[in-house]
Amino acid sequence: MHINTVSYILQNPIEYLKGVGPFRADLLKKELNIFTFNDLLEHFPFRHVDKTKIVAIKDITTQLDYIQVAGKLIHLEVIGERRSKRLIGIIQDYSETLELCWFQGINWVQKTLQVGQSYLVYGKVSYFQHKPQITHPEIETTTLYATAKNFLEPIYPTTEKLKAKGLNGRQFGKLTSTLLSLITEKDIPENLPDNVLQSLHLINRYQSFVNIHFPIDTINYANALRRLKFEEFFIAQIRLGLTKLQRHRYTQGAVFDKVGEYFNTLYQQYLPFALTHAQKRVLKEIRNDLGVGKQMNRLLQGDVGSGKTIVALLSMLIAADNGYQSCLMAPTEILAQQHFDNITALTKHLPIQVQLLKGSTKKIERKKILEQLQNAETTILIGTHAVIEDVVVFNKLGLAIIDEQHRFGVAQRAKLWKKAHPAPHVLVMTATPIPRTLAMTAYGDLDYSVIDELPPGRQSIVTVHRYEKQRVMVMDFIRAEIIKGRQAYIVFPLIEESEKLDYENLMQGYEHIKAFFPEPQYFISVLHGRQSAQEKQTNMQRFIQKDTQIMVATTVIEVGVNVPNASIMVIESAERFGLSQLHQLRGRVGRGSEKSYCILLTSFKLNNEARERMKTMVATNDGFAIAEKDMELRGPGDVEGTKQSGLLNFKLASIVQDKNILDIAKQEADILLTADPDLQNEDNAALKKYLHSLNGKTAWSKIS
Ligand code: ADP
Ligand code: MG
Repeated sequence: MHINTVSYILQNPIEYLKGVGPFRADLLKKELNIFTFNDLLEHFPFRHVDKTKIVAIKDITTQLDYIQVAGKLIHLEVIGERRSKRLIGIIQDYSETLELCWFQGINWVQKTLQVGQSYLVYGKVSYFQHKPQITHPEIETTTLYATAKNFLEPIYPTTEKLKAKGLNGRQFGKLTSTLLSLITEKDIPENLPDNVLQSLHLINRYQSFVNIHFPIDTINYANALRRLKFEEFFIAQIRLGLTKLQRHRYTQGAVFDKVGEYFNTLYQQYLPFALTHAQKRVLKEIRNDLGVGKQMNRLLQGDVGSGKTIVALLSMLIAADNGYQSCLMAPTEILAQQHFDNITALTKHLPIQVQLLKGSTKKIERKKILEQLQNAETTILIGTHAVIEDVVVFNKLGLAIIDEQHRFGVAQRAKLWKKAHPAPHVLVMTATPIPRTLAMTAYGDLDYSVIDELPPGRQSIVTVHRYEKQRVMVMDFIRAEIIKGRQAYIVFPLIEESEKLDYENLMQGYEHIKAFFPEPQYFISVLHGRQSAQEKQTNMQRFIQKDTQIMVATTVIEVGVNVPNASIMVIESAERFGLSQLHQLRGRVGRGSEKSYCILLTSFKLNNEARERMKTMVATNDGFAIAEKDMELRGPGDVEGTKQSGLLNFKLASIVQDKNILDIAKQEADILLTADPDLQNEDNAALKKYLHSLNGKTAWSKIS
């Protein structure tokens, strides 16, 4: 959120505010990034204390968190030596006494407090030897706030260093109060259109800023919060919408106006199955995009196994029909290889050349591939990150498809744009669904397609949660399935801190499993990150050819691997995986016609969140539902693929808790931009002016 740049007063450096000065200013900059008056104005309180609410000490219970008590300081003493040295104070009200305790800043606190004086004490209750106490309370003489007109006192986020310099969460309020006394309504002009304010009953902007800091009552506070959250979402949606409009209007794209030989031959003669309605619909959306001469930038969501690959291939054939090359990027070599095998097989009757480029491709071969790409002999290039390296030069790149998007950074995508002129059409496919609200904010300037239907005849996967001590039973179950001719994956988690530990963990597990499944009756493939691409390939191949019945692996198999005969997925230490990863792993089975199982093995002791994850996995196979749950449990910042996007840095609003407001903001933004795409309407002048003031301040623009 940024205040309109026309307000000069808010651009003042923070040291000019009375009560700040150069020393505190330095700290405010370093500790909280507060450089200007405006930054302070946007340093919002995280709670308010009702100053009228004073707890009697005898009524303190473990149920209470932050409390305020009022009483007389009857004792103050430093006890202990060196590291255990602390200052103990005892405060007494009409009912009881309460201990206060300081470990830091003892001298200073001791100097400022006086035995016999009355104080208002605020802080978090903790228990020491079953007795309540407050450590490092915020403490003021009771008379200090007696004249304040508001009962709700703001408490601000702060840091230890600032606290030591007299700016605790409470004292911050004095600065904000000073600041607010200096500014008037004209410094915080309205930026939302009147009709939006009126139809949503939003309070005005200036009032919102005043009330978020110093509300007269809780209703006022709620109104201020609602207005400012709405503003954050609304402005974001408008900006994303404008970017999208600009692209639709001005970014030239190659025109693919024919559907010809390649597409039709595959579609009519060699497609091994009929497309689902959802696949057809998405293909139509893509075809429309490709035909109009504007650059396509589309996000394709679909659950694991929903059949995104064939949509990708058919799109690439449209490009080929129009004389353009395409590339398909995958996050791992295994997956790239698999796409290559798959697509080569599907297109073997078509006169086009498909090539595979990987990090491990040999020099001579690489040279040949690059030559053929440059002289247009190659129509489709499949590969890992290797395909976006500068040495890879296309003759006429028309379409770039990014599979399993989250492994690719924004910078890598930007590189793609430069590979052709006009920039190639881009289709981004997600590995597992991401929540709708997240897509709306993180990918709001992309067009959006969704495959919301699985191919027919899929067996739903039975998921169970078992504890470590039931391992023997689980192994017996696997054995029984293997005897029926099935295959099983057993996956171990990656231990991020140490590749060595990972490996040891996996190998230990492998030895253990081998004891249950001895050769020559059973054979086991092992797949992990330390192997060369060649070794990985060999092990994978043995499993695909059914030479081995079990694949023991780390998460290298996470994305995309397709072995329809594998019907069991055992996930070891499943509590260590996130939901989307678990779902992605589970998606490796259930690809054939056999009944499939996913077994989540965990230790007996689980924290609540892990238990919730297991419950969710057992309860549903729906990737979209799982994505929502994931975001709810972990917060949007941690959902795969959006970590570095920087698009979720809302100061007040949360796309998880404030979903409803986001929906309304999106709806309002859409209405506004449909009616007035250039913001030429007088009603939208203030908004336009505000948006201009933001230009260059946030990196919202192109994300693909
Ligand atoms: P994902 O969307 O997870 O990338 P894939 O494209 O790998 O899914 O497809 C999963 C499996 O479903 C593949 O074996 C594919 O051949 C098959 N498949 C895709 N579309 C259909 C369809 N319409 N009917 C039957 N099987 C399909
Ligand atoms: Mg896929």
